[in-house]
Amino acid sequence: MQSYLLGVDIGTGSTKAVAVNFNGEAFDVAQHYYPVKNPQPGYSEQDPALILDAFINCITDIVKKTGAAPHVISLSSAMHSVIPVDDNGKALADMITWADSRSEDIAQKLRDSDLGPGIYQTSGTPIHAMTPLCKLIWLRENQNQLFNAAFKFIGIKEYIWYHLFGVFEVDYAIASAMGLFDIINLKWNTQACDLAGITAEKLSHPVNTTYKRTVLKSPITEKIGLNPETIFVIGASDGCCANLGSFVNTPDVASLTIGTSGAVRITSPQPVYDFGAMIFNYLLNQNTFVCGGAINNGGIVLNWLIKNFLDKKQAGPANYDEVFAKINTVPAGSEGLIFLPYLFGERAPLWDTKSCGAFFNIKQQHTQAHFLRAGLEGICFALNDVLQTLEKSSAPISQLNISGGFITSPVWTQILADITGKKLVIVQQEDASAIGAVFLAMDALGLPIPQPTTGTSENIIPNQSNHQTYSNSFPVFKKLYANLKETMHWVHEARI
Ligand code: ADP
Repeated sequence: MQSYLLGVDIGTGSTKAVAVNFNGEAFDVAQHYYPVKNPQPGYSEQDPALILDAFINCITDIVKKTGAAPHVISLSSAMHSVIPVDDNGKALADMITWADSRSEDIAQKLRDSDLGPGIYQTSGTPIHAMTPLCKLIWLRENQNQLFNAAFKFIGIKEYIWYHLFGVFEVDYAIASAMGLFDIINLKWNTQACDLAGITAEKLSHPVNTTYKRTVLKSPITEKIGLNPETIFVIGASDGCCANLGSFVNTPDVASLTIGTSGAVRITSPQPVYDFGAMIFNYLLNQNTFVCGGAINNGGIVLNWLIKNFLDKKQAGPANYDEVFAKINTVPAGSEGLIFLPYLFGERAPLWDTKSCGAFFNIKQQHTQAHFLRAGLEGICFALNDVLQTLEKSSAPISQLNISGGFITSPVWTQILADITGKKLVIVQQEDASAIGAVFLAMDALGLPIPQPTTGTSENIIPNQSNHQTYSNSFPVFKKLYANLKETMHWVHEARI
């Protein structure tokens, strides 16, 4: 077996390891799943020990299948998690994930305060319940004993890194998504730490995303069967890695992902600030920023449509074909039916946890298939909203390199191309985040980062007539939310 590189993406639902050769070609994959717990409404927690097990099992599977240890292992992970740990790296409580919204009111107050714009500008991070900054304030105010008992507050990648090396270190990408980091001066922001009620000692030591270590001896690496000289590269966050892995290197090309949620991101040499839309600016390395916006309502809304409009128990591969065949029977624009997809509240560009879903302009000609198509169009309109916000603060975007579960659907990708009017390119079939982590490892080893192989990427070109139809309905989509916002908030507060 030839030497190879391994990218490991530690996600919310699963961890995935992708084995890649030195030409940048993926040849093997392993994946292990774990649950999310919702002990109370708004809570989203996970057992970090199960994620560590999945991480070990993914690498073990690949080592067993290939019969050899990788030359280098590089890590990508979900952002914004918080685990209070003792001085032995032992979790004192379950991990709070990015999706946890218990600090919603704290985030809103901070955002509306005089400190809001400055905190956003320094950290480059939206002021939102997802951030460790807001989670720490909540812990201090609501679980003071646990807050005081913690030796450090770390994220999931730091937890795994500690179990490998016995040190608390965090890469710039994960640090820059915490709301606590100064993204220009590359150090913890004292003002944000004061707000959280901590000093920088309560956080890990920040290092660049190409930072590497070698495990000389550890119970984990012995269990996996790694060579003592196997190199570990700390890597970046899943979003930053996805940009690198889908070859998004200039501001005129964006990456667009639709999985459970969705995001649009560019790569830029400087941050793109917009306090209103709270564009995020996360560090891919010390002088490269990944800027954009994330939405809550991606594929999760399609699954809701399938379950409730098609009356299926579970949305899955068995019924995707059926739903897309139905959608295909309806013309672009769903004959005027418009859907606001904000079932789970919305992040960018609305930042409105009180928003909700709505169908509008329902007429007698509308059938079940129209509702399904309008549903999918609504998800794409929401992403177009993020895209246009990003373009306004940055530069025109001519191409979208797409990734996530939706890329297997020609109907869905065509709707997105027609709504945005942009060429879509599928450059990477494999998990873009794991591949991006491998590219960071190549950089760390002084190797050139591979270019997309010509002939293997797939293009989706917008249909101009459909684009015209959607250009007429997009302003209605935007106005509809603006007009309904007050009523949405009223309904939310009155718990109607
Ligand atoms: P995650 O964000 O959990 O990593 P994925 O990137 O795997 O999610 O994407 C999952 C979403 O992709 C599903 O919710 C579904 O909406 C969509 N999806 C998955 N498979 C298909 C398919 N064959 N056709 C169309 N959409 C799909």
